[in-house]
Amino acid sequence: METLYLSASAPETAQTAADIIKSGDLVAIPTETVYGLGANGLDEDAVAKIFQAKGRPQDNPLILHLSDAAEMDRYCHTIPEAAYRLAEKFWPGPLTMVLPAKDCVPRRTTGGLDTVAVRCPDSPITREIIRLAGVPLAAPSANISGKPSTTTAEHVRHDHDGRIAAIVDGGPCRVGVESTIVDLTDSPARLLRPGGITPEQLVAVLGELTVDKAVTAQIDKDAVVKAPGMKYKHYAPDCAVIIVSGSRDAAAKYVHANYQPGDRVLCFAEELSLYSNCAPLAYGKEADVNTLSAGLFAALRELDDPAVKRVFARCPVGGGVAYAVQNRLKKAAGFHIINAEEAER
Ligand code: AMP
Ligand code: MG
Repeated sequence: METLYLSASAPETAQTAADIIKSGDLVAIPTETVYGLGANGLDEDAVAKIFQAKGRPQDNPLILHLSDAAEMDRYCHTIPEAAYRLAEKFWPGPLTMVLPAKDCVPRRTTGGLDTVAVRCPDSPITREIIRLAGVPLAAPSANISGKPSTTTAEHVRHDHDGRIAAIVDGGPCRVGVESTIVDLTDSPARLLRPGGITPEQLVAVLGELTVDKAVTAQIDKDAVVKAPGMKYKHYAPDCAVIIVSGSRDAAAKYVHANYQPGDRVLCFAEELSLYSNCAPLAYGKEADVNTLSAGLFAALRELDDPAVKRVFARCPVGGGVAYAVQNRLKKAAGFHIINAEEAER
């Protein structure tokens, strides 16, 4: 199939993309988080094409993207008052809520669950496509399953050229990591995946929030978990990724002592000069965590190269958006973390 390339700024793009969605085919869409692989979320056959294109396990549910918060009641029932407050405060934006699913939502979309994840993305072109299609868009990240997510149209082209109907190019994604997911079917609400809306922002609205264990630790692939996607290998280049934590100097000392040809260093821009002999790649500035979240997946994709043997990665500390960056990097590393200060002793 020939993939159609559509610019977000061309006047006919929204209608063309909406027509493809209505006909049951796949369109890659830009959002503020990552590029999504979108299909009519109410059409089982269209949704099946997403799983096939990505090589995604069938039990890994999809997020339904809405053009407006008012659409939440069409697909969810028994909606707690907190959901409306979160939608009011954070939509359109990088927050996904898990709620009880109405019967109109196919179980293929929800990975067989009785709950459905919904969000309203902060991308005018994508909301317009959804509005014109008249259906919610089921859209996981557009990467091939297990690989780093897609944050530019070029990443989507690399993974899916000739295999999907169209790609809408809306430029690089602003947030760069997937949406925050909060499960509102649990009390207190449960954080299933950190993202651009921070735990602190959620607590300010909800009062209380528990953090699912899948956020902070490796989950066994046979485990029964709240967010099925969290147990699968994620975000990873083919080579080993090792997080080197600790002070700037201790980390540099550790890397220099262990560096071998073919290794790369994924670091902060402020650290580039420390690693000039170790093939460094900066993914953003430590002083501005938003540049780290925006740059992480593009960097991980660049390092997904047979010539790269190992990656020593530097990870930001602290809460806020740094918490989401830690989560993605730790998953990419399979939670392989070396404390350079302890290694020194
Ligand atoms: P992706 O679209 O690739 O960012 O992945 C979507 C994520 O949302 C996966 O990790 C899913 O496990 C999670 N998710 C989607 N629907 C649900 C649901 N009903 N309950 C829990 N997690 C969900
Ligand atoms: Mg994904």
